Amino acid sequence: MVIFVSKKQQSSEKDFLFKFLVIGNAGTGKSCLLHQFIEKKFKDDSNHTIGVEFGSKIINVGGKYVKLQIWDTAGQERFRSVTRSYYRGAAGALLVYDITSRETYNALTNWLTDARMLASQNIVIILCGNKKDLDADREVTFLEASRFAQENELMFLETSALTGENVEEAFVQCARKILNKIESGELDPERMGSGIQYGDAALRQLRSPRRAQAQSAQECGC
Ligand code: GDP
Ligand code: MG
Repeated sequence: MVIFVSKKQQSSEKDFLFKFLVIGNAGTGKSCLLHQFIEKKFKDDSNHTIGVEFGSKIINVGGKYVKLQIWDTAGQERFRSVTRSYYRGAAGALLVYDITSRETYNALTNWLTDARMLASQNIVIILCGNKKDLDADREVTFLEASRFAQENELMFLETSALTGENVEEAFVQCARKILNKIESGELDPERMGSGIQYGDAALRQLRSPRRAQAQSAQECGC
């Protein structure tokens, strides 16, 4: 497995740790979105040797440092074999379709069902209509996707892993919503043991800030 960590981020301190997933049909640009978020570059097609499966980055959300551990399907979605263990303990997800492919949009309901069943009812999901730069080939309008998002209680953005538009925003908005839910008490990390497993650092941070940092540094090898 290739571990892909932005060098600048490795030594930073963090307040919270969230596991994130990137899900959606093959070819929608999930790996490119992860690469763009971590490296701020478009992943060149010719560069097949970098099979990013995992990325990690610390972001600042309203003054709090949140470490996102982001899992990419690593091609499993091609065989419809995205496993239960992939979903387990995820706090947030980017659910990706390609705005130039109705087929990928039509598959969203299945992805959503799996995510809510296999991750947690409480997983915070942001819908990403990727390849926004290919507007001329669009098969899915912004309006219909935003209606779908509303009906299914998802946040929604159109993104471009090519230009970078809205890529950071997608991750940050999702993280912000999780933080807001924790802070408002809507999500109680103390009671998440059986379902969603927020990053242990986040859990402990709520109880004991000093212990949290010491322990998360020990446990997280990335
Ligand atoms: P995945 O199978 O969902 O991981 O998709 P990839 O990240 O491998 O991307 C699939 C194809 O879409 C590749 O040829 C990418 O170059 C292309 N691609 C990904 N994101 C974008 C985007 O935002 N704009 C455009 N024009 N192409 C993209
Ligand atoms: Mg991929």
